[in-house]
Amino acid sequence: MRTQREVEGSTPTVPKAARVRQEPRLRAADAVSLSADGILGLDSDHRIRVFNPALEELTGLTKEEVVGKECHSVLRVTDSYGNPLCADACPLNHGESGRFNNEAEIVTAHGKRVPVDLHFAIQCSSTGGLRRAVVNVREAKDLHQASNVRSALLALVSHELQTPIAIIKAYASTLARADANWSEDVVREKLGAIEEESDRLSRLVSRLLYTSRLEASSISLNLMLLDLPLEIQRVTKRLAETDESHEILVSFPADFPPVTADPEKIDEVLTNLIENALKFSPEGGSVTIEGALTNSEVQITVGDQGVGIPASEVERIFERFYRVHDSGQHTPGTGLGLHICRLLVQVHGGRIWVNSEPGRGSRFTFTLPVAIDS
Ligand code: ADP
Repeated sequence: MRTQREVEGSTPTVPKAARVRQEPRLRAADAVSLSADGILGLDSDHRIRVFNPALEELTGLTKEEVVGKECHSVLRVTDSYGNPLCADACPLNHGESGRFNNEAEIVTAHGKRVPVDLHFAIQCSSTGGLRRAVVNVREAKDLHQASNVRSALLALVSHELQTPIAIIKAYASTLARADANWSEDVVREKLGAIEEESDRLSRLVSRLLYTSRLEASSISLNLMLLDLPLEIQRVTKRLAETDESHEILVSFPADFPPVTADPEKIDEVLTNLIENALKFSPEGGSVTIEGALTNSEVQITVGDQGVGIPASEVERIFERFYRVHDSGQHTPGTGLGLHICRLLVQVHGGRIWVNSEPGRGSRFTFTLPVAIDS
């Protein structure tokens, strides 16, 4: 008679509990390589000993390329203005054990600057020499956004604000020259230019202030029943007076209902959209404004036959200060108009979007809820 042991051949008998399939154990090294945060391990010479996959992904560098190198030569940590942070500002050089945080930027293998949050865990000897350190590196998305906004604001300030300031300064200095005797016509012309440029500056500054008030929701609406086709006739008549190269066509169904809205704010949205349609259709053509009615909302579409917007930019043009490189570069503007439009439409309970085809034109549509008692 064969025993149980013989049936199983040489397999030793294992207690039942142990026969259940065991999950692989999580070792410290696995935790490091699985971590979603970049992890950098440094030895006493600031040389890289650990460089986990998340950090490889973030930096575009491989572990093999960097292990053994000094960390400052690999990550090139700077502040958001590009000033190096690897010397005195780096906690690794402070001779102190403990945990420290830094907001910074690193440069990837492809030369891209990435904003990061750095969390240092540092061990130093009693004499202050570095023994070892672990640095957690995490991409800082909010910081990134803030730095995008900051660079857009800087670009705006440097171009849109500098130009009028330079003109005002030049004309004022010319007029103030003690050795010149300007004719009345010249004086009037230069003063006229100074006035025009001061108006431009003042418009820009109020736009900036207005945007920040809208973002802080500190604008109140003066709501009333609004006849949109009439309002649109008014806006287009005003804009058509200063534009002779485009045709503006308005079409609304006869039964178009009234909406509850603030006329001044809707005027602003329409003005922005129609001005853009004219501005970004350098070849002329027609600008159309159409009204449509769906279940509980009205839709207004401003269409043009202009330069259009690349698909990759469509999502971003409603962002603060955003301007499409090709279309916006030589056209005056602030990149605030569409952002303001979106804020204004949203406070009315509506939505705004764009359909566009580069080289063929764009269609901006916004919705407003139909007045309840209509
Ligand atoms: P601005 O016109 O002052 O630059 P906007 O916020 O109104 O700012 O528009 C942001 C960007 O969106 C513009 O710079 C332009 O690149 C793009 N854009 C807006 N409207 C149009 C349009 N009708 N056709 C093509 N591009 C447009």
